[in-house]
Amino acid sequence: MKRIALFPGTFDPITVGHLNILERAIPLFDEIVIGIGHNSSKSTLFPLEQRENWIKEIFQNVPSVRVESYEGLTVDFCKKIDANYILRGLRNMSDFDYEKNIAQMNKLVSNHIESIFLMCDPEYTPISSSVVRDLIRNGGNAAPYLPEEVKY
Ligand code: ADP
Repeated sequence: MKRIALFPGTFDPITVGHLNILERAIPLFDEIVIGIGHNSSKSTLFPLEQRENWIKEIFQNVPSVRVESYEGLTVDFCKKIDANYILRGLRNMSDFDYEKNIAQMNKLVSNHIESIFLMCDPEYTPISSSVVRDLIRNGGNAAPYLPEEVKY
């Protein structure tokens, strides 16, 4: 059976922290689908199409990684794309608490889908899309935390 992982998130925008998880996950899976979850009531700094295009550009030469967007339950999207793993990144205990609930709930709903966690390398612990958005909104320099393809 092919090992297909969904890496779900909002990616508003994708950061070097996300890349740290993805680069280390590439050798572990046959395919990784970066799934941009969106729901019309949640507002984002960057439009879906732009977030998707940046990710396409970053991984254009990596055949095992692609990006798709989805609405609704993550486990339902897993079924649609035949993913048997959900990949998530962990930075600290509060990520752990949050992720543990979601992973255990997903397991109740879909017993055959396993959540897999990678711990970020230490230098990525403080990086999140939300601090990057704060920097951007307030005229700070977000470039060190963004892949070079992310230009706004
Ligand atoms: P969500 O809105 O679902 O939290 P994000 O786009 O913020 O979506 O994050 C997607 C995934 O990437 C999550 O598993 C998150 O923990 C992980 N992630 C984000 N930033 C980092 C980082 N600096 N190091 C490790 N994992 C990270």
